[in-house]
Amino acid sequence: MLRQTRVALSFTALAIMLMMGGTRHANAASKLPDPIHAGVAERLYRLDCGHSLANDESVWTPGENVGRSIEFSSTCWLIKHGSDWLLWDTGVPESTLNDPRGWSTLPKLIVYHLNRSLTDQFAEIGLKPGDIGRVAISHTHGDHIGNMGLFPDSAILMQRAEYTWVHSPDGPNDNVNQLMALARKLLGTPKNLQLIDGDTDVFGDGSVTLFSTPGHTPGHQSLLVHLKKSGFIILSGDVAHLEENFEKDIVPTLNTDKAASIASMERVRRLIATYKAKFFINHDKSQTDKLKLLPGFYD
Ligand SMILES: [Zn+2]
Repeated sequence: MLRQTRVALSFTALAIMLMMGGTRHANAASKLPDPIHAGVAERLYRLDCGHSLANDESVWTPGENVGRSIEFSSTCWLIKHGSDWLLWDTGVPESTLNDPRGWSTLPKLIVYHLNRSLTDQFAEIGLKPGDIGRVAISHTHGDHIGNMGLFPDSAILMQRAEYTWVHSPDGPNDNVNQLMALARKLLGTPKNLQLIDGDTDVFGDGSVTLFSTPGHTPGHQSLLVHLKKSGFIILSGDVAHLEENFEKDIVPTLNTDKAASIASMERVRRLIATYKAKFFINHDKSQTDKLKLLPGFYD
């Protein structure tokens, strides 16, 4: 009798779990693409958007690598969809180009360098900044929005939560406050700002989806792109800085929400499984160095 009750109880618990899981999946599926029927973008190009040197890796890997220096990559991505172009992040400001002193978002922590401008890299494939119809940004840290000024006529796609956050009063962490002030300056007042709430299918065919991954900042997002030959690829933004952080759920000290950061990494892992996706980590230089660079592309 007792055993039957226990079995019945666990069956009920399982049914509830499945229902909840089913509901969550249905909600997610309403904006995320169907893996079988999703449309495709034609090309995905990687642009060199700078690199940076930090003198204490442990800021990004708390408890490990104290006092060890590290070099990060900064990557922007350009997506061709029909005759439309979408740029993902805009990198280190072009004013830094070939300046040996570099540029910094937080001078005590990290210095950025830029060897090639976005404009020059666009020109290599016959484009100019005015050809970019949409600029989507993962989040508002300076190394991701350094060149918004090149795109005054583009639609700027960002999460409403991110926009609201950088325009909110300062909090207790002075480093974070400095980053917010810089974000307001670099973001300016885009005339075609499109604030989005959560997951968004950019072209309406499942080929490019912005999906919410808060934690590094309150309105952080990542991007899922579907290509004909390469399949699905996830562009990280800063949901994780290094492969090891992603594998071990390590959260940098500058992130605004540790629990949300871990939940977002878990979300990415689920999407990698669902879409059999590759995962390109923006700042992981050892991974980035192995990826194709414009004029090469993924298709
Ligand atoms: Zn970053």
